[in-house]
Amino acid sequence: MYDIIIIGAGPAGLTACLFAERQCMNVLIFDNIESPSNLSTAYDIENYPGIEHISGKELLEKMKKQIEDGCDIRNEKVIEIINTDKKKIIKTETDTYEAKSLIIATGLVHRKANIEGENKFLGRGVSYCTICDAPLFKNKDVVVIGGGDSAVKGALLLSEIANSVKLIHRRDELRAEKILYKKIMKDNVDILWNSVVQKINGDKFVSGIEVKNLKTKKTTKIKADGVFIEIGFTPLSELMKNTGIKTDVNGFIIVDKEQRTNIGGIFAAGDVTNSPLKQVITACSDGAIAANSAYKYVNR
Ligand code: NAP
Repeated sequence: MYDIIIIGAGPAGLTACLFAERQCMNVLIFDNIESPSNLSTAYDIENYPGIEHISGKELLEKMKKQIEDGCDIRNEKVIEIINTDKKKIIKTETDTYEAKSLIIATGLVHRKANIEGENKFLGRGVSYCTICDAPLFKNKDVVVIGGGDSAVKGALLLSEIANSVKLIHRRDELRAEKILYKKIMKDNVDILWNSVVQKINGDKFVSGIEVKNLKTKKTTKIKADGVFIEIGFTPLSELMKNTGIKTDVNGFIIVDKEQRTNIGGIFAAGDVTNSPLKQVITACSDGAIAANSAYKYVNR
């Protein structure tokens, strides 16, 4: 019987592990290698205090190294969670584990746009991860869909590599941080405002898109070798449904200030929760608080 089982080895889960370990708790953390933390694909983290620049991969490796002596880390995929009054039962594809408390830090996955051709050309010009795939589009013509931090950062990165970059946003105002807005207005990126991509064309690979301007109602064909869809994320909270954990309308787990869910002994941390900011620093903070709350729960 573990004191705490943590599902997810991103910044939230790893920090929870670090803090639990410091309370001499018996901790198991599941690191699902099929669905690695989004941090591992972040090109450059520049808002983590004390570190001016670091790649997400390097930061994650440092966090893992810091906990590897004190925590039991397993590369298993969790398939079921059963909550009982006395314990939490966690089933993976290969085994069954028990714990007195549980911290969910499963994070989120990229949201799909449901555009005609999106599935057909996935990996053939369509990508959900600019940071991972941008180098494949050196000197090519690309478009980025979205208006948040991911899309703007992606477009800025692509502008250093690709021949041309168009950012396509459905409104006339970006959702991204103001500093990114300033950068992109100066940069070599065309912005197509009030526009939606209706179709992705191609034969074996993407060759272009059809874009509709929502104001003029005009549809234009644009040549493109790559389509980067950066329109946000969906939380990985499906697994918790049978436990009765409450989520908001978008599926983010509802937690209080101490990272408690509505179920005793089950805590959640990081991007899977309804936190207002999805950043490494806030995920770490959530993880530390969740571990402290789990410690208090186990020793109540
Ligand atoms: P986001 O903030 O939710 O923005 C999604 C963008 O995509 C919005 O502009 C949205 O348009 C648009 N969109 C959503 N569904 C769409 C659809 N079906 N078709 C076309 N456009 C659609 O997502 P995000 O940019 O991925 O960021 C997610 C979180 O991660 C945010 O909290 C962000 O701050 C954080 N993040 C931070 C950094 C960083 O370096 N600081 C980098 C990346 C992400 P509307 O604006 O019209 O809703």
